[in-house]
Amino acid sequence: MSTAILDAEKIPGQSLDIKTVIPACPIAVYQFRAQRLAELAQESGLAEYFGLLEQLVSAQQKVAALDGLAAKSCFGPEPRLDLTQSKPMALDHFEWGNYWQSVLLELVSELMPKVSAELRIVLKDLVKADADVVQGYAKSMLSGHLAEVPSQYSLFIWAALSVYWSHWAVDVAEGLAMVGESHRRLCPVCGSHPVGSVIKDEPRTGLRYLHCSLCETQWHEVRAECTACGESKGVNLWAETETNAAIRIESCDTCKGYTKMFFTDINPKLEVAVDDLATMVMDNHLVEHGFSVTTVNPLLLAHEQDEGFQPSEQPHAKVGDIH
Ligand SMILES: [Zn+2]
Ligand SMILES: [Zn+2]
Repeated sequence: MSTAILDAEKIPGQSLDIKTVIPACPIAVYQFRAQRLAELAQESGLAEYFGLLEQLVSAQQKVAALDGLAAKSCFGPEPRLDLTQSKPMALDHFEWGNYWQSVLLELVSELMPKVSAELRIVLKDLVKADADVVQGYAKSMLSGHLAEVPSQYSLFIWAALSVYWSHWAVDVAEGLAMVGESHRRLCPVCGSHPVGSVIKDEPRTGLRYLHCSLCETQWHEVRAECTACGESKGVNLWAETETNAAIRIESCDTCKGYTKMFFTDINPKLEVAVDDLATMVMDNHLVEHGFSVTTVNPLLLAHEQDEGFQPSEQPHAKVGDIH
């Protein structure tokens, strides 16, 4: 990777025609993600892991598409949400119960026939574990204490939580989209960290949205500011090529954080979680220069974790590089 450092783009602030929040369509998100995992599996150099992720994301898509009684057993009754408070679906803001564990069972039964014997043992142990213990793991993950969760379980627990959260987040996000408030570092629906920035050309070229690592909602954030600390000075862009790179990294000299930017206006095939995973070599480059990642990738949770960058009021552990 070259060390091309470009000036941060100065894009004017939001105007009234910009949606501040874009609700997810979970089925479409999972379908697009699974497709991209299949596309990048070979060139990623992690074909086996990408294959497992494709199975997992396809299982998420299948559960997200359930209806009738099957859906009721996975998602339960509509949770009571206080839409007047900020981040109505944050961990302590509503009773999220343990219906998500039914989602987990569905995911595991989808995966069982398709994974290695070794992983089948892990999944069997996970579904046999005491429901209260598994609930504790979920709480730890949602609080950002990833080290409290056995690392072989975290990918699957988060995948199940994500299906539950994204199911109920849609209405909340639609409500928030009507409000003209600007949002910042954390998801306005559930308070989780973003996976990365997605740059879109609709309704205006160059709009930046952050994509939630839990509920898949996207929220608007101006491009001239650091997404972690809000500082506008000392924000730099890094890319592998000097012009028109579809994936760039934004670093901040103030908080020493960085976040990846995916320009879907340049390459519409980019999928925030998959393409983040496929470009970890860029992360190594930033880490070598003393920066820390400010985002969380739900597809990387099976890997080694370490103490994290915590720029915000809701600490969330950093996800480690691939080893
Ligand atoms: Zn969210
Ligand atoms: Zn910053």
